[in-house]
Amino acid sequence: MTMTLPAFHWIELVYLVATALFILSLMWLSAPTTARRGVWAGELGMGLAIVGTLFERGIIDYRWIAIGLVLGAIIGVPLGMVQMTAVPQRTALSHAFGACCVTLVGTAEFYLRSPNVPKFVMSVLSMEVILGGLTFTGSLMAAGKLQEVLPQRPITYKGQNLVNLGMLAVAVAIAVALVLNPGHRNLFPAMVGISLLFGVMLIVPIGGADMPTVISLLNSYAGLSAAAMGFVLNSKLLIVAGALDGSSGFILSVIMSKAMNRSFTNVLFGAFGQVQTAAAGAVEAKTVRSASAEEAAGILAAASKVVIVPGYGMAVAQAQHKVRELYDVLTKKGVEVSFGIHPVAGRMPGHMNVLLAEADIPYDRLLEMDDINSDLPQTDVALIIGANDVTNPAARTDTSSPIYGMPILDVDKARTVMVIKRSMNPGFAGIDNPLYYLDRTLMLFGDAKGFVGDIVRELSGGSHH
Ligand code: NAP
Repeated sequence: MTMTLPAFHWIELVYLVATALFILSLMWLSAPTTARRGVWAGELGMGLAIVGTLFERGIIDYRWIAIGLVLGAIIGVPLGMVQMTAVPQRTALSHAFGACCVTLVGTAEFYLRSPNVPKFVMSVLSMEVILGGLTFTGSLMAAGKLQEVLPQRPITYKGQNLVNLGMLAVAVAIAVALVLNPGHRNLFPAMVGISLLFGVMLIVPIGGADMPTVISLLNSYAGLSAAAMGFVLNSKLLIVAGALDGSSGFILSVIMSKAMNRSFTNVLFGAFGQVQTAAAGAVEAKTVRSASAEEAAGILAAASKVVIVPGYGMAVAQAQHKVRELYDVLTKKGVEVSFGIHPVAGRMPGHMNVLLAEADIPYDRLLEMDDINSDLPQTDVALIIGANDVTNPAARTDTSSPIYGMPILDVDKARTVMVIKRSMNPGFAGIDNPLYYLDRTLMLFGDAKGFVGDIVRELSGGSHH
């Protein structure tokens, strides 16, 4: 049975709708109120793209496709069920799969078409395979570092950047040779091999700390390689989807680098994320004041304006539902409660927003750093729940601090600061936080979930007003 012309148009139309849905999806994903719709639009778009592809005229045998779909589902379903804190490495694995696929498709296309590959096609095909190859192994390395299967520590040696750039240059040189003479079939595996090796070498010097930024960058590469594949396969849908992926991944990595006070080149070439055993040498016995849940509840109940700053510790403790209860009791007592969200609080972009949304805390109570910072001087209590680095005033004042210059939440400007954490241990950046030694700061030592629960119990017990 041959497909008729109208059927072909029908597929093009499906692709067009899918393209529009991808664009809408990204737009909707950028605000919490529409994010859910954004996810649906993206899924529908991807569903349409798959259906459209299955009706392509070029397909003569559906058996391999069926096997692929089943295999993909078997791998994909458990991947979708990982814990929230494992999402960065899960995402890295998805990029690795996507990039592997792009590399394989590029390889197949080359051997099907060589030696008759037009110069333009050979150029984008090389770009597809080089980016795909390095993203494949790079993403696997990144996932391994985050999952702590591989050492998180950056591994560096002299001349590393030179070696890496040299490798990339060789891959590009082979690509040029192939563009000039696509008949050199034996050069192709060398190009793929070098790209795969380059992906490993690229990630080796980067510490676990910078992995989320790097993953977002690898996301961008995966998108670019998919767009290149779109040119090779003559698929407008792939070109658009790849370009969207490429640019949004790039924008996200730039935002993250800024929020963590790193230049982009620093992340890529700086061997950051090394454990800073900081200047812990000069230990002047600094004292902190600690308080009980009962005392904390009393202070909160007496406040009229409270800002809650959540961080990684809230995520680890899964304290978001208790935090919601706290929000409820305080609001009921007439206290104005809002949340200060730092762009890199937690371990992935949007980490806090997702958790607080899960606990049904109203979106309009979540304020971004710049908005909340102007409120903090008029705030009675800043309650920090498992956050550390994002509140460290050393970032403003101490030029020798590794986080100097990083924008922070100005919680030290509130009248009273209360910090829930288990110990005096540092956070992600591995450095001490002068906030804890201020006169106005009270340390509430304990697990975030347990301690917030205790405060809620005190507040609802009615014993304090
Ligand atoms: P943080 O600086 O890592 O501090 C988290 C604090 O939570 C720790 O000091 C820890 O203190 C406490 N904690 C851990 N488990 C807890 C529990 N069960 N109950 C109570 N407290 C607990 O976190 P942050 O302030 O959210 O800052 C995020 C950091 O991660 C920044 O340095 C940022 O640059 C980095 N980062 C962010 C991203 C991102 O995309 N969001 C990506 C990569 C890196 P105790 O051990 O004393 O309890």
